[in-house]
Amino acid sequence: MLTYYCPKCWTVLNAKELTCPNCGYALDEHMQMPYEDKLLIALHHVIPERRIMAAQILGNQKSQRALPEFLKIIEGDETDYFVLRAVLFAAAKINHPDREIILQKATLHDSDLVALFAKELLAQLSDHHKIDDWDRNTG
Ligand SMILES: [Zn+2]
Repeated sequence: MLTYYCPKCWTVLNAKELTCPNCGYALDEHMQMPYEDKLLIALHHVIPERRIMAAQILGNQKSQRALPEFLKIIEGDETDYFVLRAVLFAAAKINHPDREIILQKATLHDSDLVALFAKELLAQLSDHHKIDDWDRNTG
């Protein structure tokens, strides 16, 4: 059984509702949004697995619009290591100057694991490794 959430306030919804009973968000309009916009919203989903999935897809699609969102997540109050890891990994796949800014910020992250992962990604990028290949090798 699928659970539906309002993409704005994350209230659990009845599948047939057209507007969120909690915040009034227009769910039918959301359905018609471009896929990339839905993914950018899903970066803030209440369920960590959904946030991870959204980051992964945005990275694979080289979404430059995701980079400012990724920076906010790294600088914000996200605490789930696997979400932060997915965000950094996705950022590394997007060939844009902001990628270095995000990874450099992450090397100063409160979580040592996050900081270490960012340093590893920066080292891989400076060696001109293709990040996609590196992922396959490290799992
Ligand atoms: Zn809502």
